[in-house]
Amino acid sequence: MPERKALICWLVSLEGYVTPGSLKDKCSKCGQPVWVAPSSWFILYDNPEMEPLCILCAVEEMKKDKEFEIGGITPAQAVEVLEYLNSR
Ligand SMILES: [Zn+2]
Repeated sequence: MPERKALICWLVSLEGYVTPGSLKDKCSKCGQPVWVAPSSWFILYDNPEMEPLCILCAVEEMKKDKEFEIGGITPAQAVEVLEYLNSR
């Protein structure tokens, strides 16, 4: 069975920090609007088979699929996390 790749995204309907420059996309499972940060645009571009998955659907997938793995964060994502921490 081919490995399914998903990009875990924050739901637009949930409150919280939104990385500047984020764009809206839709969860590939439930269709709800999600935020895609600039660092994630590159991940999606480099991995055309990868689809956005909202945080709630990701939790459901993790419960069902014991093989579910979370990839490491990219340097660009780390920069966005630092920007967030420095903005507080
Ligand atoms: Zn979803």
